[in-house]
Parts: sequence; C-alpha cells; structure tokens
Amino acid sequence: MRKKTRQIKVKDLIIGGGFPISVQTMWKEPLNLPLDQVLKRVDKLTAMGCEILRIAVPHRDDATYVGKIASSVPIPIVADIHFDYKIALKCMDFPIAKIRINPGNIGSPGKVEQVIKKAGDHAIPVRIGVNGGSLPKNLQHENNPARAMVKAAEGELELCEKFGFKDLVFSLKSSEIEATVKANQLFSEKYDYPLHLGVTEAGPLIQGTVKNTIALTELLKEGIGDTIRISLSDTPEHEIMVGREILKLLSLKSKGVHLVSCPMCSRSVFNVRGFIEQIHEKLMSIDKNITIAIMGCPVNGPGEAKKVDLGITGSGNYAVIFKEGVIVKKIAAVDAPEIFCREIDNF
Ligand code: SF4
Repeated sequence: MRKKTRQIKVKDLIIGGGFPISVQTMWKEPLNLPLDQVLKRVDKLTAMGCEILRIAVPHRDDATYVGKIASSVPIPIVADIHFDYKIALKCMDFPIAKIRINPGNIGSPGKVEQVIKKAGDHAIPVRIGVNGGSLPKNLQHENNPARAMVKAAEGELELCEKFGFKDLVFSLKSSEIEATVKANQLFSEKYDYPLHLGVTEAGPLIQGTVKNTIALTELLKEGIGDTIRISLSDTPEHEIMVGREILKLLSLKSKGVHLVSCPMCSRSVFNVRGFIEQIHEKLMSIDKNITIAIMGCPVNGPGEAKKVDLGITGSGNYAVIFKEGVIVKKIAAVDAPEIFCREIDNF
C-alpha cells in the first residue's frame, strides 16, 4: 500500500497523492547545442518513458536556453540549481515546471527566502534535494548520515513553511544504500511531502543499476516514493530504462513490454544480445502490456518460452516468430528487427 503524500503539480503531471510513480532523468550534454538537436533527444527520451527531465543550470545566461527547452517540450522541465540562488530566480522568468535546490550549497536563509517567494508567486514547486555528500556545514560531522540528511531537509522545510510555502518535493540521497533507505524511511514517518527517490553517484551501468534496485525496491515495497531517478554514469536513456523496469517488476507500472530472453548456451545460433540491442529502445516506447521472448535457438527456444505472447529466434540467415510456442512466421534475419517490432505493435 502506497503512502499517501501531498499532491504536487508539475506542469501536467502530479507527483504524490497516490498518482503513478513518475520516472525522471537528467540532461547530460552541454547547453550550447542547437535547440533542434536537444528537442529531438528530449522527444526520444519522452517516447521511451521519461516523464520529467531535470537540467542543471550552471550559469545565469543558461536560464534563457533552458527556458526555451521548457517551452518547446511536452514534459516538465526541472531547473537544477547549485550555489547561485540568482540563477533560480532567473529560471522562474521562464515556463520551467520545478526548481531543485540543494540545502548544502544554496546559501543563507535570506537567499532561500527569495527563491521560495518567487516560486510561490509563479506557482512553481520546489524540490529540496539533500545530498549526503554535500550537507550544510553544521551537519557534516554528524555520526548518523541518515539523520543528518533528514535534519538538512528539515532546516529548509522549516524555512519554507515559515513563509507558507508547501509546494515541495523532497529527496534524500546518498551514495550508500543504507543511508539512502534509512533517511527516506525516517522522513516518510514524519512528513507527508512527496519523495523523489534515488541513490546518488551510484556508479556505472551495472553497479548503479544494482545499487538503485536494492535501495528503491526496499522503499517502494514499503509504499515510500512518488517519483524516481536512477543516477548512472551512463546515458539518460539507460536511466529511464532501469527506472521503468524497476517499477514494472514491482507491479507499480502496468503498461510496458515484459522481456524474456534466454541466457544463451553452446546451442545458441541466434544473436540474442545483438538483437536486443537493436530493438531495446523501440521496445521501451511501446506502451502496451505484452510479454515477448528473444531466444537463442529454434530447437528449444519456442518451447522454453511457450508462455509468452510473442517470441523470436532463428539461425543463420533466417528468423522465426512464434506465438505461445508455435512458429507462425519465417522471415529473413536481416528484416527481423523491423518485422518483429511491427508484430508487437499489431499484437
Ligand atoms: S533457448 Fe536454446 S540457446 Fe537459449 S538457453 Fe535454451 S537451449 Fe540454449
């Protein structure tokens, strides 16, 4: 049972209040690319299931560019601000959907107050993003890292509530699984603000996926968490794929392709790994509930995967598509990615 948190409106999406858990990622390219190139990539991320995109705004001059992106894409754009509160103020002159500030480095209460006041005037929610590695100075030597993170969040919360501002989302992230889990549990026991979950600086694709999966599974199974971001030293596309997969496997997202694939063995005559790579991004953009299988040999593959809706295997220059274990189509291997994706679309 999911914990009932407040509803926070971020453009057309609601975070919290029992609304579906959204998957987000972060822009990782420089902010001097041609706008059409950026919009094309955002479109691709959106098709793959990215529901919120955060963009770091390192300089005041970048605010205009991020504003242009925000007004050109359908998904909410979050401006991520560190150190200079004036960047946050400038970003709010544009149609950005949310501001993220870090209590460890945004500066004095007076500066936070200015950000909060302008956010309130423009109806822009704010995420207080606590990072275990960059806590406010007075908390850096606390023995209990989870409690220190909660205290950092509480410091900002007190300030925001003093000004009557409650349009808040919180995140408490550490690069350690235990500290991340404990901090979110502690915060969730005390407050009903929505939580953005993630393990920060989690590492490259494999390590980061495992770390995030362990931490997020524990929290999500307890009903904690309203939006997630999988931090990886890898592409935003992979962050989205992992985030969606975690939600799907925990039955927190109903739609999406469930992929079964064989581990391969010395009988393999179909390039399972290569085929998955060719169609994986396309699979992510298919918003229907279907289980498919990609198997390494036509001898055992269709039988081993007879419970799936649709499957493929092959040998040499041909591939076969099967339904519930029965081969229904034989095609040229070269055409297999396109034809198989079409079959899924038509299923
Ligand atoms: S489907 Fe074929 S290739 Fe894959 S594990 Fe089974 S026997 Fe091996």
